[in-house]
Amino acid sequence: MNCEIRLPGLILSGENSAERLPALLPAAGPLLIVSARSHAEWARRTLLQEECRGLLLTGFQPELPLTDADRVLQEGRRIGAQAVVAVGGGSVMGQGKTVAALLPLEGMTADYFYNRRTIPGKGAFFAALPTTAGTGAEMTANAVLRDPETGIKQSLRHPGMMADVAVSDPCLTWGCPPALTAASGFDALPQAVESVLSNRATACTRALAGEALQLLLAALPGAMRDEHPARAAAAEGSMMTGMAFAQSGLGAVHGLAHPLGSLLHVPHGVCCAILLPEILRHNRDCLGLLPGGEHPETFIARVEKLRQDLDLPATFRAFGLNASHYPFVLRHCRSSSMKCNPIPLADEEIVRILETLT
Ligand SMILES: [Zn+2]
Repeated sequence: MNCEIRLPGLILSGENSAERLPALLPAAGPLLIVSARSHAEWARRTLLQEECRGLLLTGFQPELPLTDADRVLQEGRRIGAQAVVAVGGGSVMGQGKTVAALLPLEGMTADYFYNRRTIPGKGAFFAALPTTAGTGAEMTANAVLRDPETGIKQSLRHPGMMADVAVSDPCLTWGCPPALTAASGFDALPQAVESVLSNRATACTRALAGEALQLLLAALPGAMRDEHPARAAAAEGSMMTGMAFAQSGLGAVHGLAHPLGSLLHVPHGVCCAILLPEILRHNRDCLGLLPGGEHPETFIARVEKLRQDLDLPATFRAFGLNASHYPFVLRHCRSSSMKCNPIPLADEEIVRILETLT
């Protein structure tokens, strides 16, 4: 099968690998750091070192709104930033990718979001440091943004948005709260499964995603207890998942998680956790592709047990899903993720799955 692989210019992983980043940043010009609040102090101490080196911004809303993206873009242009570092979860990664791409250009984020202008190529130097394991967003060349005025949520995408350096340092995930660890883990886990099963998978992406799946299945309970070896395995699993799905695409879990998440305001990983077993049942005939050679029912039961152990919900009942939501989900689920699902889902099948989870 033809294979095209795009990855960050340099990938570092392992404990304390983030300490190597200052030496890899461009020496000249101000640095712009966007950071999750939880890691702002670490980022200031490790990366900014002296105030005159640049600016650190924090306090972003989840599901990156255009207003936040513009605020950072204006500050970055004001200081003449030459490099951007993002330290955080998926939306902070998206923030970093967006600002790095648009810094040297004219116009504001909405101009590119609504295709009034196009990104011509590579922007400023960009380094991505995930603090959850994880979204895999440090490995992808797109940023999901939303316009709070219109409710539209879509990706800004360009190959030049790929990070120059991605650092998967498990020390940055130490102390991550259990609920966030569980939700992030159940984003990475379905991503690994969907990458293996994707109809765009290759031997190369399957090798990465299959190994990542094994790591994540074994590591997530220990990561919840903040055991450091498990944190390291989960971070590596998440990183490898990102490397794989950035090439292979995902599947129906992600196709459905996006409209359900934006409709019911359910965190993305929680959405994926609720959907995964039902989609596995739909894809039952393809589960032989997964590593380990387990019987499909055994594998599904194992995933459901893990979900329960991680205190994640099994349905959307608590989030108020009802039949009036189904048309919206059907209208907005036919994304590129959905097209990668190995066994297509007809509308009737999607409704049946939603009814099971309502
Ligand atoms: Zn995801």
